[in-house]
Amino acid sequence: VHYYLKNIQTKAHLNAFVEVYEQSALEQAEKVDQKIKAGTAGKLAGMVIGIKDVLCYADHEVNASSKILEGFQSQFTATAVQKLIDEDAIIIGRLNCDEFGMGSSNENTVHGKVLNALDEGRVPGGSSGGSAVAVQANLCTTSLGTDTGGSVRQPAAFTGLVGIKPTYSRVSRFGLIAYASSFDTIGVFSTNVKDNALVLEVIAGQDDNDSTVSRKAVPHYSEQLQLDRPVKVAYLKETIESEALQPAIKEHTLDILDKLKEEGHQVEEVDFPLLEYVLPTYYILTTAEASSNLSRFDGVKYGYRTPNAHNLESMYKLTRSEGFGEEVKRRIMLGTFVLSASYYDAYFTKAQKVRRLIKEFTEDLLNKFDYIVLPTTPSTAFKFGEHSDDPVAMYLEDLYTVQASVSGVPAISIPNGKDENGLPIGLQVITNSFKEAELYAFADYLM
Ligand code: GLN
Repeated sequence: VHYYLKNIQTKAHLNAFVEVYEQSALEQAEKVDQKIKAGTAGKLAGMVIGIKDVLCYADHEVNASSKILEGFQSQFTATAVQKLIDEDAIIIGRLNCDEFGMGSSNENTVHGKVLNALDEGRVPGGSSGGSAVAVQANLCTTSLGTDTGGSVRQPAAFTGLVGIKPTYSRVSRFGLIAYASSFDTIGVFSTNVKDNALVLEVIAGQDDNDSTVSRKAVPHYSEQLQLDRPVKVAYLKETIESEALQPAIKEHTLDILDKLKEEGHQVEEVDFPLLEYVLPTYYILTTAEASSNLSRFDGVKYGYRTPNAHNLESMYKLTRSEGFGEEVKRRIMLGTFVLSASYYDAYFTKAQKVRRLIKEFTEDLLNKFDYIVLPTTPSTAFKFGEHSDDPVAMYLEDLYTVQASVSGVPAISIPNGKDENGLPIGLQVITNSFKEAELYAFADYLM
């Protein structure tokens, strides 16, 4: 803990942490030390973990990187965080992110942007940018982020880390501040597959506080990392041929596919005609869900309340106008529009239908193949400000990550070399629901 506290101090300018739990982390370390000596320590004894600023931790502040939650303290602890503590992990602090998880660059935050430790003029990715940089810069051992449409995988790719989005419903969402409830997952950042698997096996599983969480038993992922058979891999033609894909990423992805063939695995090209519908489907459905989820922030119950109101109505309006950032407001408006009576069928209902088509296509493919391999992102880490004035360009960054999110299946990003500027490239592997053990084994094999 002392070691990480020192690193956090020297690397403070990266802005990964918004709060460091120095006192409680040291106290917890003391306790864990006793337990280790007594031989009663849990699975994560001594692992130092940072948590994204959307996960509640009792008696600690949580802001979702938004002014609207300024000063808000949670009264309870998210199940995922509690499970870490129960296994003797040490929670070292709260990590910066895009406001309510909305963004791909960690520039939309009331705490100020997060810098990529490899090139401080570039973004770390988002929305879990702080969670990525905290592990990248050695400020903690692993971290929790959340992934609604790529927010763990994309920053993992931009920072050269391993990042998993588990199956939807694998990890309890109790105590996670919602962005889009039918997409939200809690994921893990680490430098290697084994640590990642170990943390996920601790946080996954049943929870009486979340009626949507799966009751399926959780395998010991970290003990099943051997891949001892040839596997069937599909890659999607449209993802490789997309004009948006940077040449170096294309090359590195094709190299891996060639290598797999040479090693005796079956690799096949498959058509994915739905690729062009994946982003619109994702952005219609998530903004709709977000506009509903964020209606609870009204100045009455949580955090910020405007000092400028003259009656109840203006209190609501001004609180929300002053409290939410630009991107969040854009999404609330988009979501409200697609849910409005005259446009509901044209947008929301249609997007739900297309979601089913994408999900069925993905699951069918994963019944025939063990894995789908594709790039995590179309580009490597871009410069600050590069997409700030163009929301659609920013949304295009999520081209490859949203398929797994729309389908609910698990996906992992692992490092796959570097581009000509020395920036890390991410490789994404997708598999069918609840096959995280197989996903980790293959990821470990590829690394
Ligand atoms: N960049 C995507 C978005 O802004 C994904 C975010 C996420 O996964 N939380 O919606």
